[in-house]
Amino acid sequence: MASPIPLRIDIAPPRDRRARALTDLRISVIDRCNFRCPYCMPEDAYPRDHEFLGKAQRLRFEEIERIVRVFAGLGVSRLRLTGGEPLLRRELPQLVARLAAIDGIDELAMTTNGSLLPALAPGLREAGLGRITLSLDALDADIYRRLSGGRGDVAEALAAIDAACAAGFGPLKINCVVMRGINDEEVDKLAAHFRGSGHVLRFIEYMDVGTCNGWNDDLVVPSAQLRARIARRWPLVPLPRGRGSEVAERWRYADGGGEIGFISSVSAPFCGDCTRARLSADGRLYTCLFARQGHDLRGPLRAGASDAELAAIIAGAWSARDDRYSEMRNRVSAMPRERIEMYEIGG
Ligand code: SAM
Ligand code: SF4
Ligand code: SF4
Repeated sequence: MASPIPLRIDIAPPRDRRARALTDLRISVIDRCNFRCPYCMPEDAYPRDHEFLGKAQRLRFEEIERIVRVFAGLGVSRLRLTGGEPLLRRELPQLVARLAAIDGIDELAMTTNGSLLPALAPGLREAGLGRITLSLDALDADIYRRLSGGRGDVAEALAAIDAACAAGFGPLKINCVVMRGINDEEVDKLAAHFRGSGHVLRFIEYMDVGTCNGWNDDLVVPSAQLRARIARRWPLVPLPRGRGSEVAERWRYADGGGEIGFISSVSAPFCGDCTRARLSADGRLYTCLFARQGHDLRGPLRAGASDAELAAIIAGAWSARDDRYSEMRNRVSAMPRERIEMYEIGG
């Protein structure tokens, strides 16, 4: 492993044009996935012979580590590994160990569909991974299967939750993307299943990320509707919002059944608090989930850029940032349609 040489960057932590700090980095470690969720990577757009990034195009672990050190020097303290499916990246625990050792990184989490988790959870824990968020869109086996593009098995997803807990990751956050007429009938079942378990179920509004999922707003179930529905059965009490960059609205069951969350990116955008940058597997920095273009870091890195030079590129991109797509979504009639896909930057 590379030695932890102290980083000297004489650049102050940047603020963007809306005074938002840069505190969180989501790292897509691979653009491939073993699922084909229709809201993210629909099978017809990504058939089995689709050409994903090759090994040489992806950042190597030492390159990711180097870039993260620079981000940490600029104020990033929270990391999330994602993809594609992050567990498809070989030797992921080695990357986890490198990142966990970086000065200034306080939180290291991962979002996964869980299918490969049982075998990998203990090694990831040992390497220093802190938390796991698992995506689970239904308890019904057929609906789950459909929402994984015919590739996932809900029994395996539930077993993955147990395996993660056995490895010391519990309680987890469980993410469910809700689509009207497709899995909204699962909402009560999911709530009933996870109430009292300690896991925090979070319902996510279906977002118009990318261009291939055929999004339209009829498919979005606003969080307020879901919350009212759940509260009719199990009264809910609001909890204070989490730390600055926490995107979920937090509630607890009045009867002590634990916490539940709602991520309302469409009906109640939170751009004003968005302190997240995203790094694609091929080393491009994105300052918004809905960005059209990224800033290339791999090119300068491989051409021998110093830490200070990399920091200047990152700080420059962040300082120029004015993104607030979700707040503008309904105000601008012709929003640009060309934009990055979710599986490339990982949500
Ligand atoms: N493959 C991993 C997984 O599914 O957990 C990590 C990557 S996935 C892109 C990250 C998260 O984005 C998942 O929780 C997924 O449900 C969510 N997601 C993907 N497309 C979405 C969309 N169009 N709207 C809302 N959430 C979405
Ligand atoms: Fe794969 Fe995750 Fe996208 Fe589903 S949401 S296709 S599991 S990357
Ligand atoms: Fe952040 Fe862009 Fe999402 Fe707004 S739309 S919360 S700026 S990622």
